[in-house]
Amino acid sequence: MRLAVVTGANRGLGLETSRVLVRRGWRVLLAARREEEGRRAAATLAGGPGEALSWPLDVGDPASVDAFAARARRESLRIDALVENAGVYLSRADASAFRESLAVNAVGPVRLADGLAPLLARGAQIVMVSSGMGQLSGLPAELRREVEAVRDREGLLALAAELGRRAGSGGAYLAYSASKAVLGAATRFLAAELAPRGIHVNAVCPGWVRTDMGGASAPRSVEEGARGIVWAATMPPDGPTGGLFRDGRPIPW
Ligand code: NDP
Repeated sequence: MRLAVVTGANRGLGLETSRVLVRRGWRVLLAARREEEGRRAAATLAGGPGEALSWPLDVGDPASVDAFAARARRESLRIDALVENAGVYLSRADASAFRESLAVNAVGPVRLADGLAPLLARGAQIVMVSSGMGQLSGLPAELRREVEAVRDREGLLALAAELGRRAGSGGAYLAYSASKAVLGAATRFLAAELAPRGIHVNAVCPGWVRTDMGGASAPRSVEEGARGIVWAATMPPDGPTGGLFRDGRPIPW
């Protein structure tokens, strides 16, 4: 049975993505920050043909990410798809909002990808759930230059730290956009690094979706939003890597 790890899987797009994969016969490890919520979500997916289980994971906490990856290595998981879906859109507009957005939406996903990399099967897919709000064209010019200059982990961590010091600059929208743009930079360097192992890394924008984050007036259902994520997670091994996609079609970084 193919194995997918899905983060932030207890509700919203993560839970729907997990549901579709279980329906297609995958074993899905739901990673959820609140253990009980994760277990409850996994129980709703019982009935096959695949199966669901849950482990705790707080993507914003390096110790939690390391413990999750260590457990996965101890249990010798062989992972076919890693869906990095957990994310936050904070309504605060202070420096701590930048710090938390960067930690959960960009730095944590890279740490998790690194921790699980030895367990990824040849032809595995990593899907970074991103947003059109993280497209480079929407960023202020200086921030765009800074994001485009990120080529590796060192650059990513340096920019994340720098953004975390810029108190109140731009508010909630910009903290989110910046974090997803930085996630894009990570997608590109991880794709280049993992290409020799036949592992693909792509980012997906699900569109504006009616979840707790997207709100009730969003035009897309959670089923429609999850479709592009599932598409990327189940892509054949000769598919693209290092791109940003919406509805299975490339869109500009
Ligand atoms: P929801 O707010 O409905 O769900 C977010 C999920 O992420 C929850 O399971 C939440 O867990 C989890 N999460 C948040 N922080 C952490 C953390 N530190 N560690 C582990 N899990 C965490 O959002 P959506 O389902 O809408 O969003 C999923 C992804 O899609 C996000 O990355 C988001 O940025 C992206 N996206 C969503 C859009 C939309 O319109 N909805 C548009 C574009 C992108 P908990 O229940 O514990 O809070």
